[in-house]
Amino acid sequence: MRTVYVNGEYLPEDQAKVSIFDRGFLMADGVYEVTSVLDGKLVDFDGHAVRLDRSLSELSLHSPVTRDELLQIHRELVARNALTDGLIYLQITRGAPADRDFAFPDPDEVPPTIVLFTQSKPGLADAPAAKTGIRVISIEDIRWGRRDIKTVQLLYPSMGKMMAKAKGCDDAWMVENGYVTEGTSNNAYIVRDGRIVTRPKTNDILHGITRAAVLRYAEEAQMEVDERPFTLDEARAADEAFVTSASTFVMPVVEIDGTPIGTGAPGPVAARLREIYLEESRKAAI
Ligand code: PLP
Repeated sequence: MRTVYVNGEYLPEDQAKVSIFDRGFLMADGVYEVTSVLDGKLVDFDGHAVRLDRSLSELSLHSPVTRDELLQIHRELVARNALTDGLIYLQITRGAPADRDFAFPDPDEVPPTIVLFTQSKPGLADAPAAKTGIRVISIEDIRWGRRDIKTVQLLYPSMGKMMAKAKGCDDAWMVENGYVTEGTSNNAYIVRDGRIVTRPKTNDILHGITRAAVLRYAEEAQMEVDERPFTLDEARAADEAFVTSASTFVMPVVEIDGTPIGTGAPGPVAARLREIYLEESRKAAI
Protein backbone atom coordinates (compact mmCIF):
# COMPACT_ATOMS: atom_id res chain seq x y z
CA MET A 1 0.00 0.00 0.00
CA ARG A 2 1.23 3.47 -0.93
CA THR A 3 1.81 6.37 1.41
CA VAL A 4 0.30 9.52 -0.06
CA TYR A 5 0.31 13.17 0.98
CA VAL A 6 -2.91 15.09 1.65
CA ASN A 7 -3.06 18.59 3.16
CA GLY A 8 -0.03 18.28 5.40
CA GLU A 9 -0.33 14.59 6.29
CA TYR A 10 1.33 11.42 5.07
CA LEU A 11 -1.32 8.69 5.07
CA PRO A 12 -1.89 5.18 3.77
CA GLU A 13 -3.70 5.61 0.43
CA ASP A 14 -6.95 4.10 1.72
CA GLN A 15 -7.16 6.63 4.54
CA ALA A 16 -6.58 9.72 2.40
CA LYS A 17 -9.81 11.64 1.87
CA VAL A 18 -10.96 14.81 0.08
CA SER A 19 -14.35 16.50 0.57
CA ILE A 20 -17.21 15.96 -1.91
CA PHE A 21 -17.39 19.79 -2.04
CA ASP A 22 -13.82 20.07 -3.29
CA ARG A 23 -13.78 22.35 -6.34
CA GLY A 24 -11.33 20.04 -8.07
CA PHE A 25 -14.03 17.36 -7.98
CA LEU A 26 -17.03 19.62 -8.71
CA MET A 27 -15.53 22.14 -11.17
CA ALA A 28 -12.16 20.82 -12.34
CA ASP A 29 -10.91 23.93 -10.51
CA GLY A 30 -7.36 22.80 -9.99
CA VAL A 31 -3.93 22.35 -11.48
CA TYR A 32 -1.46 19.50 -11.52
CA GLU A 33 2.09 18.46 -12.29
CA VAL A 34 3.72 15.13 -13.05
CA THR A 35 7.41 14.77 -12.24
CA SER A 36 9.30 11.68 -13.24
CA VAL A 37 11.61 9.79 -10.91
CA LEU A 38 14.66 7.95 -12.25
CA ASP A 39 16.97 6.03 -9.89
CA GLY A 40 15.07 7.53 -6.94
CA LYS A 41 15.79 11.11 -8.10
CA LEU A 42 13.49 13.87 -9.36
CA VAL A 43 13.82 14.88 -13.01
CA ASP A 44 13.59 18.64 -13.59
CA PHE A 45 11.90 19.40 -10.26
CA ASP A 46 12.61 23.12 -10.69
CA GLY A 47 10.98 23.25 -14.14
CA HIS A 48 7.81 21.64 -12.79
CA ALA A 49 7.77 23.90 -9.71
CA VAL A 50 8.10 27.04 -11.88
CA ARG A 51 5.29 25.92 -14.21
CA LEU A 52 3.11 25.03 -11.19
CA ASP A 53 3.53 28.57 -9.84
CA ARG A 54 2.56 29.98 -13.21
CA SER A 55 -0.56 27.76 -13.51
CA LEU A 56 -1.58 28.75 -9.97
CA SER A 57 -1.07 32.44 -10.57
CA GLU A 58 -3.00 32.40 -13.88
CA LEU A 59 -5.99 31.04 -11.91
CA SER A 60 -5.49 33.30 -8.85
CA LEU A 61 -4.75 30.22 -6.76
CA HIS A 62 -2.23 30.21 -3.96
CA SER A 63 0.15 27.42 -3.15
CA PRO A 64 -0.33 26.02 0.34
CA VAL A 65 3.37 25.09 0.44
CA THR A 66 6.68 26.79 -0.33
CA ARG A 67 9.04 25.56 -3.06
CA ASP A 68 11.31 24.00 -0.42
CA GLU A 69 8.40 22.25 1.28
CA LEU A 70 7.25 20.93 -2.08
CA LEU A 71 10.68 19.47 -2.77
CA GLN A 72 10.73 17.97 0.72
CA ILE A 73 7.30 16.33 0.16
CA HIS A 74 8.43 14.89 -3.19
CA ARG A 75 11.56 13.44 -1.58
CA GLU A 76 9.67 12.12 1.42
CA LEU A 77 7.20 10.30 -0.86
CA VAL A 78 10.06 8.78 -2.87
CA ALA A 79 11.65 7.56 0.38
CA ARG A 80 8.47 6.32 2.09
CA ASN A 81 7.39 4.41 -1.02
CA ALA A 82 10.90 3.19 -1.88
CA LEU A 83 10.33 4.56 -5.39
CA THR A 84 13.10 3.87 -7.88
CA ASP A 85 11.49 4.61 -11.25
CA GLY A 86 8.10 6.20 -11.69
CA LEU A 87 6.15 9.40 -11.33
CA ILE A 88 4.97 11.81 -8.69
CA TYR A 89 1.54 13.27 -9.29
CA LEU A 90 0.72 16.59 -7.60
CA GLN A 91 -2.63 18.35 -7.59
CA ILE A 92 -3.68 21.64 -6.02
CA THR A 93 -7.33 22.71 -6.11
CA ARG A 94 -9.28 25.73 -4.87
CA GLY A 95 -10.31 23.72 -1.84
CA ALA A 96 -13.63 22.68 -0.40
CA PRO A 97 -16.10 25.44 0.47
CA ALA A 98 -19.24 24.62 2.50
CA ASP A 99 -21.41 24.37 -0.61
CA ARG A 100 -21.28 24.27 -4.40
CA ASP A 101 -21.04 27.72 -5.95
CA PHE A 102 -19.66 29.05 -9.24
CA ALA A 103 -18.07 32.00 -7.43
CA PHE A 104 -14.60 31.37 -6.05
CA PRO A 105 -14.55 31.04 -2.25
CA ASP A 106 -12.59 33.57 -0.19
CA PRO A 107 -9.05 32.13 -0.06
CA ASP A 108 -8.69 33.35 3.55
CA GLU A 109 -11.59 31.12 4.54
CA VAL A 110 -11.09 28.13 2.25
CA PRO A 111 -7.55 26.81 1.98
CA PRO A 112 -6.48 25.02 -1.21
CA THR A 113 -6.38 21.23 -1.27
CA ILE A 114 -3.01 19.66 -2.02
CA VAL A 115 -2.55 16.00 -2.86
CA LEU A 116 0.55 14.11 -3.99
CA PHE A 117 1.03 10.44 -4.73
CA THR A 118 3.60 8.20 -6.37
CA GLN A 119 3.14 5.85 -9.32
CA SER A 120 5.73 3.12 -9.58
CA LYS A 121 6.89 2.37 -13.15
CA PRO A 122 9.81 -0.01 -13.01
CA GLY A 123 12.05 0.42 -16.06
CA LEU A 124 10.34 3.70 -17.01
CA ALA A 125 13.26 4.74 -19.21
CA ASP A 126 13.30 1.40 -21.06
CA ALA A 127 9.69 1.43 -22.29
CA PRO A 128 9.44 -1.02 -25.23
CA ALA A 129 7.42 1.58 -27.17
CA ALA A 130 10.56 3.71 -27.51
CA LYS A 131 12.02 0.97 -29.76
CA THR A 132 8.90 0.38 -31.86
CA GLY A 133 7.42 3.89 -31.83
CA ILE A 134 3.77 4.72 -31.31
CA ARG A 135 0.89 5.12 -33.76
CA VAL A 136 -1.36 8.15 -33.55
CA ILE A 137 -4.65 9.29 -35.03
CA SER A 138 -5.61 12.92 -35.61
CA ILE A 139 -8.62 14.48 -33.93
CA GLU A 140 -10.02 17.98 -33.86
CA ASP A 141 -8.73 20.11 -30.98
CA ILE A 142 -11.89 21.27 -29.21
CA ARG A 143 -10.28 22.19 -25.87
CA TRP A 144 -10.56 25.61 -24.23
CA GLY A 145 -8.24 28.51 -25.08
CA ARG A 146 -5.89 28.35 -22.07
CA ARG A 147 -4.05 25.10 -22.74
CA ASP A 148 -0.90 26.71 -21.34
CA ILE A 149 -2.38 26.29 -17.85
CA LYS A 150 -1.99 22.72 -16.61
CA THR A 151 -5.53 22.27 -15.29
CA VAL A 152 -7.17 19.00 -14.30
CA GLN A 153 -9.85 19.38 -17.01
CA LEU A 154 -8.67 16.30 -18.89
CA LEU A 155 -11.92 14.90 -20.22
CA TYR A 156 -11.27 15.66 -23.88
CA PRO A 157 -7.66 14.38 -23.86
CA SER A 158 -8.99 11.30 -22.13
CA MET A 159 -11.65 10.87 -24.83
CA GLY A 160 -8.93 11.38 -27.45
CA LYS A 161 -6.93 8.47 -26.04
CA MET A 162 -10.07 6.32 -26.15
CA MET A 163 -10.72 7.31 -29.79
CA ALA A 164 -7.13 6.25 -30.57
CA LYS A 165 -7.58 2.99 -28.70
CA ALA A 166 -10.81 2.26 -30.58
CA LYS A 167 -8.77 2.47 -33.80
CA GLY A 168 -6.02 0.22 -32.46
CA CYS A 169 -3.64 3.17 -32.00
CA ASP A 170 -1.73 4.59 -29.04
CA ASP A 171 -2.56 8.26 -28.93
CA ALA A 172 -4.11 11.22 -30.74
CA TRP A 173 -2.63 14.41 -32.15
CA MET A 174 -5.01 17.33 -31.93
CA VAL A 175 -5.50 19.60 -34.92
CA GLU A 176 -6.84 23.15 -35.06
CA ASN A 177 -7.39 25.04 -38.33
CA GLY A 178 -5.30 22.41 -40.11
CA TYR A 179 -2.33 22.78 -37.76
CA VAL A 180 -1.25 20.24 -35.16
CA THR A 181 -1.43 21.68 -31.65
CA GLU A 182 -0.10 18.80 -29.51
CA GLY A 183 -0.73 15.23 -28.40
CA THR A 184 -3.35 14.44 -25.74
CA SER A 185 -0.66 14.45 -23.04
CA ASN A 186 2.54 15.42 -24.86
CA ASN A 187 4.08 17.96 -27.21
CA ALA A 188 4.32 17.08 -30.92
CA TYR A 189 7.27 17.41 -33.31
CA ILE A 190 8.23 16.52 -36.85
CA VAL A 191 11.64 16.30 -38.49
CA ARG A 192 12.10 17.45 -42.07
CA ASP A 193 15.49 17.51 -43.82
CA GLY A 194 17.20 17.29 -40.44
CA ARG A 195 15.25 20.26 -38.98
CA ILE A 196 13.13 19.75 -35.89
CA VAL A 197 9.77 21.51 -36.13
CA THR A 198 7.46 22.12 -33.18
CA ARG A 199 4.66 24.54 -32.43
CA PRO A 200 5.76 27.70 -30.59
CA LYS A 201 4.76 28.39 -26.99
CA THR A 202 1.43 30.25 -26.97
CA ASN A 203 -1.83 29.70 -25.08
CA ASP A 204 -2.64 26.96 -27.65
CA ILE A 205 -0.38 24.35 -26.06
CA LEU A 206 1.03 23.30 -22.73
CA HIS A 207 4.58 24.57 -22.33
CA GLY A 208 6.14 21.18 -21.76
CA ILE A 209 8.98 20.93 -19.31
CA THR A 210 10.40 18.08 -21.39
CA ARG A 211 9.93 20.23 -24.52
CA ALA A 212 12.07 23.01 -23.02
CA ALA A 213 14.84 20.60 -22.07
CA VAL A 214 14.78 18.71 -25.38
CA LEU A 215 14.94 21.93 -27.44
CA ARG A 216 17.86 23.15 -25.30
CA TYR A 217 19.74 19.85 -25.78
CA ALA A 218 18.94 19.84 -29.51
CA GLU A 219 20.46 23.30 -29.90
CA GLU A 220 23.50 22.35 -27.83
CA ALA A 221 23.97 19.37 -30.17
CA GLN A 222 23.89 21.80 -33.17
CA MET A 223 20.55 20.48 -34.39
CA GLU A 224 18.33 23.00 -36.21
CA VAL A 225 15.03 23.81 -34.48
CA ASP A 226 12.10 25.71 -36.03
CA GLU A 227 9.42 26.76 -33.56
CA ARG A 228 6.48 27.16 -35.94
CA PRO A 229 3.10 25.54 -36.47
CA PHE A 230 3.00 22.58 -38.86
CA THR A 231 0.08 20.98 -40.69
CA LEU A 232 -1.11 17.42 -40.60
CA ASP A 233 -0.11 17.06 -44.26
CA GLU A 234 3.43 18.19 -43.42
CA ALA A 235 3.50 15.70 -40.58
CA ARG A 236 2.42 12.83 -42.83
CA ALA A 237 5.16 13.74 -45.32
CA ALA A 238 7.85 14.22 -42.63
CA ASP A 239 11.00 12.12 -42.28
CA GLU A 240 10.30 11.57 -38.57
CA ALA A 241 7.81 12.46 -35.88
CA PHE A 242 7.95 12.24 -32.11
CA VAL A 243 6.36 13.45 -28.88
CA THR A 244 7.79 14.52 -25.54
CA SER A 245 6.43 14.40 -21.99
CA ALA A 246 7.72 13.97 -18.46
CA SER A 247 6.54 10.35 -18.35
CA THR A 248 7.54 9.21 -21.86
CA PHE A 249 10.62 11.45 -22.38
CA VAL A 250 11.13 11.41 -26.18
CA MET A 251 8.84 8.92 -27.91
CA PRO A 252 8.98 8.25 -31.68
CA VAL A 253 5.72 8.39 -33.67
CA VAL A 254 5.79 6.00 -36.62
CA GLU A 255 2.30 6.35 -38.06
CA ILE A 256 -0.33 9.09 -38.34
CA ASP A 257 -3.87 8.11 -39.40
CA GLY A 258 -2.50 4.91 -40.94
CA THR A 259 0.23 6.69 -42.97
CA PRO A 260 3.75 5.52 -42.06
CA ILE A 261 6.11 8.38 -41.20
CA GLY A 262 9.43 8.20 -43.04
CA THR A 263 10.54 4.57 -43.08
CA GLY A 264 7.75 3.63 -40.66
CA ALA A 265 10.34 2.94 -37.95
CA PRO A 266 11.71 5.25 -35.21
CA GLY A 267 14.07 7.77 -36.76
CA PRO A 268 17.65 8.74 -35.81
CA VAL A 269 16.84 12.26 -34.59
CA ALA A 270 14.23 11.05 -32.10
CA ALA A 271 16.50 8.23 -30.96
CA ARG A 272 19.45 10.60 -30.44
CA LEU A 273 17.32 13.16 -28.57
CA ARG A 274 15.93 10.44 -26.32
CA GLU A 275 19.43 9.26 -25.52
CA ILE A 276 20.71 12.78 -24.77
CA TYR A 277 17.60 13.68 -22.77
CA LEU A 278 17.83 10.59 -20.57
CA GLU A 279 21.56 10.97 -20.05
CA GLU A 280 21.37 14.67 -19.14
CA SER A 281 18.22 14.24 -17.03
CA ARG A 282 19.81 11.49 -14.96
CA LYS A 283 22.85 13.69 -14.41
CA ALA A 284 20.81 16.73 -13.37
CA ALA A 285 18.17 14.84 -11.30
CA ILE A 286 18.01 15.77 -7.62
N1 PLP B 1 0.92 18.75 -23.62
C1 PLP B 1 -0.07 18.27 -22.86
C2 PLP B 1 -1.48 18.53 -23.27
C3 PLP B 1 0.21 17.54 -21.69
O1 PLP B 1 -0.80 17.06 -20.94
C4 PLP B 1 1.56 17.28 -21.36
C5 PLP B 1 1.91 16.51 -20.15
O2 PLP B 1 1.07 16.07 -19.41
C6 PLP B 1 2.57 17.78 -22.19
C7 PLP B 1 2.22 18.52 -23.31
C8 PLP B 1 4.03 17.54 -21.88
O3 PLP B 1 4.44 18.32 -20.80
P1 PLP B 1 5.67 17.85 -19.89
O4 PLP B 1 6.83 17.67 -20.79
O5 PLP B 1 5.86 18.98 -18.95
O6 PLP B 1 5.24 16.58 -19.23
